[in-house]
Amino acid sequence: MTYINQYRIYLRRLGDNVRNFLKKAAEFMQGRYGHDKLNTFIWIIAAVLYVINLFVRSPFIVIVILLAGALAVFRSLSTNITKRLYENNRFLSIYGAVADFFKRQYMKLRDFKTHRYIRCPYCKAQLRLKKRTGIQRIHCPKCNSDFKKNIYF
Ligand SMILES: [Zn+2]
Repeated sequence: MTYINQYRIYLRRLGDNVRNFLKKAAEFMQGRYGHDKLNTFIWIIAAVLYVINLFVRSPFIVIVILLAGALAVFRSLSTNITKRLYENNRFLSIYGAVADFFKRQYMKLRDFKTHRYIRCPYCKAQLRLKKRTGIQRIHCPKCNSDFKKNIYF
């Protein structure tokens, strides 16, 4: 019986300690920036470099991993939230552009037999046209302009 009571007291204390720790951690993070997509990206880069380094074993890669980790921790704990948000938005727009580029390349390959992707010279919109070779009159539905384009193959 006394053992059970001691165990209950032990569990209660453990619970109190965990709650205290979480409270202190929450207080510590008050007014700090926290996590974002850019930090996720930095951690993924660090993880990839770590795996590469298992094979390559370069002190240079170790330094880059440590710097990347330090940067991500610094950004999470930073109190300059405006600047961190700006960095994250810059990252998201560059990441989006790169992702779009690869998506377009994939679609060009996928539709190579049936369609051609052409950029409107006036509004830069991507147009998806049925494949026809030779000089084509093309109408852009986005900006309503007409132009000619020679499709070679
Ligand atoms: Zn257009």
